[in-house]
Amino acid sequence: MKVTPATRAMLTPKICKVDLCHSPAGTRGMCTKHYQRWLLHGDPHHGESVPLTDSALALMANATVERGPDKGKPTLVARLAGELLAARKPG
Ligand SMILES: [Zn+2]
Repeated sequence: MKVTPATRAMLTPKICKVDLCHSPAGTRGMCTKHYQRWLLHGDPHHGESVPLTDSALALMANATVERGPDKGKPTLVARLAGELLAARKPG
């Protein structure tokens, strides 16, 4: 049997185009899970958690209130992130 480029494409398993996902791809180049998320929420990463690294916490610790009487003050999330960061520091 002669293998044409089209045949090779059919025989080569496609992998989900979403970063770090190794599931077989289906519709729109995504696996079932990521396609469903994209379809329902417009984002294949919807609902995924983000690891709370020190740099992520440092970014969050800089968040300030954007409007209202408390404008410019740290948000509740910023204060919590700051406390988590302080608790992680050795010593
Ligand atoms: Zn996927």
